[in-house]
Amino acid sequence: MENCLFCKIVAGDIPSAKVYEDELVYLFEDIAPTAPIHYLCIPKELISKLDEIDETNSAVIAHIYEVIAKLAKDLDLKDGFRVVTNCGENAGQSVFHIHFHLLAGRPLQWPAG
Ligand code: AMP
Repeated sequence: MENCLFCKIVAGDIPSAKVYEDELVYLFEDIAPTAPIHYLCIPKELISKLDEIDETNSAVIAHIYEVIAKLAKDLDLKDGFRVVTNCGENAGQSVFHIHFHLLAGRPLQWPAG
């Protein structure tokens, strides 16, 4: 945990552009955005990868989706948005603290490469 980039962001040891925070989750702007809106949504508690989700930690994942749904309403993303989680090397996961990319503000191609 001490070497986890996103844990350091949650702790405030590395600066970030905060979008939303509550007791369970932290949302911030991606440092290299690929869309006009590109936020990262993370649980404060470290879950490294999507395949580590189980019955002991899945409540925070449901909460992340509730937060995203409310944010999408607040930001009026009625034209659509995408939520992406890369899991593991082949999927391009580069930070091993589970995160949900929230992408919006332009047409998004599918399938995504
Ligand atoms: P992934 O490749 O799916 O693991 O996504 C990791 C994301 O973290 C990438 O989109 C990076 O641009 C983003 N990222 C890396 N370092 C930072 C940082 N210090 N602040 C904000 N976003 C970051």
